[in-house]
Amino acid sequence: MTKAKRERLGGLPPRYGFMLNPYPDIHVSRCPLCERKTGQRKLPLLIHVDPLHLIALNYTCRYCSHCDLLVADKHAIEHLLTGLYIQSDPSVIGNNYLIVGTVEKKTWREGLKQPKEISEMLPQASDLATYYRELRVTRPGWYKSDQEPPVMEPPPSQEWIKLKG
Ligand SMILES: [Zn+2]
Repeated sequence: MTKAKRERLGGLPPRYGFMLNPYPDIHVSRCPLCERKTGQRKLPLLIHVDPLHLIALNYTCRYCSHCDLLVADKHAIEHLLTGLYIQSDPSVIGNNYLIVGTVEKKTWREGLKQPKEISEMLPQASDLATYYRELRVTRPGWYKSDQEPPVMEPPPSQEWIKLKG
C-alpha cells in the first residue's frame, strides 16, 4: 500500500477509524480491535462512488468508543446505495465505492429540508482518520493447536453488481 498523501475532502479535522464488515450473517457485537462490546452510532457517511459521485448516507454503524472505531455492514450499505441509484442512475450500480468520511449531523439534516449540493456539505465533513481493511474472521470449529483456522471468505456482493446488457 502506498502512503501517498490523499487530498482531504472534508473541512473539519479527520476523525473515526472505519472498517467494513463483509459478512451478512455476522453481527459485530464486539470490537474487532479490542473485543470490547460495541454500541452504535448513527451518522451520515460520506461515500465516493466511481466515477464522480459523492453522497451522504445516514447509517447506523457499530461503534467502539474505546478505539473510536465505526463498523458498517457492507451488504447493508450496498442495499442502501442500490436503492438510491436504481431510479436516478442504474449505470452506477456495481461501481467501486469508498467510504471517505462523515458529515456533521446538523448539516446533513439541513440538507434534507433544503437540498444541498454535496460540495456545500464538505466544509462540515471530516475525512476518516484511519481506514482499516475489511473485517476477516476465521472459520469456527475445532483445530489442532499447531493449526491455523482458515479465514472465512466473505460472500460476493448481492445487489451492488453490474446490471447485464
Ligand atoms: Zn475497540
